[in-house]
Amino acid sequence: MRYYVLDRGDKRSIELSQQFHRLAESKGFKLDSESPEIVVSIGGDGTMLHAFHTFTDQIPDIAFVGVHTGHLGFYADWRADELEHLVELMSANGPEGFGNPRIVKYPLIEIEIHKKSGSASYLALNEFTLKGVDGTIVAQVDINDTAFEMFRGDGICVSTPSGSTAYNKALGGAMVHPTIEALQLSEIASINNRVFRTLGSSLMLPKHHHCDIFSRKEQRLLLTVDHLNIQLDDLVSVRCQVAKDKVSFARYRPYPFWDRVRNAFLN
Ligand code: NAP
Repeated sequence: MRYYVLDRGDKRSIELSQQFHRLAESKGFKLDSESPEIVVSIGGDGTMLHAFHTFTDQIPDIAFVGVHTGHLGFYADWRADELEHLVELMSANGPEGFGNPRIVKYPLIEIEIHKKSGSASYLALNEFTLKGVDGTIVAQVDINDTAFEMFRGDGICVSTPSGSTAYNKALGGAMVHPTIEALQLSEIASINNRVFRTLGSSLMLPKHHHCDIFSRKEQRLLLTVDHLNIQLDDLVSVRCQVAKDKVSFARYRPYPFWDRVRNAFLN
């Protein structure tokens, strides 16, 4: 089994990462930073974002496993003191070659950036946001090539179902079960008056819809894609839709999404 480990970089996570390598070696796993089958993230949900973006060009070929050094997270199923048990399960004989996990797949967002100076594309696991560097932004939102609203305010957040519990939640967006293939658009402090009018609530687009956000004035913008920050000085538009590829997580025991929500926010 080819594996790679990515840790948060703090003392505890580095120690756990070293422990994982020792356990993995004893089971005959092969460390492979180029084309791993399994990527283990040790730290928090934020560390999983880093792991995802490290292998963003190999997403269909990788299954991720998360170990949390604190409480269990949205992408992390295992606590630090359960590492040995996890490696035992990963080394059991199974059709996947890395134990008998259930592979669960979560939707992602595909983002195409069109600038005067060129184009770029990204995949987001949690969300992308478009915000102003110098103040409020002005942007036109089109849905399926039809003008929908003219936005003025702090920014716009477009989240995946699994990212709906992150930034989107702080914006009052709904929490969405990751089996629902959709993206959610939430406003960040919109200004509403006679010129600029927005829906004022989050909306969800199904898999076969797309959304374009056009920059409608000379403005410096900040695009965030999960933990990444990209400054855009000549943005024309951003197109987003549910991505064709999904991210895979190897589940070695059940931990339902609503249990994660309850444990994170209610218990
Ligand atoms: P950070 O500011 O260091 O941490 C962001 C927090 O979000 C961490 O507590 C992280 O959990 C948690 N988180 C990440 N993904 C989550 C998910 N899917 N569901 C629930 N909580 C989640 O930033 P970072 O570690 O680089 O992560 C970037 C993320 O921060 C972005 O994707 C965005 O969602 C989030 N963010 C949230 C707000 C807000 O809520 N107002 C504002 C900006 C950014 P761990 O402690 O387990 O890592």
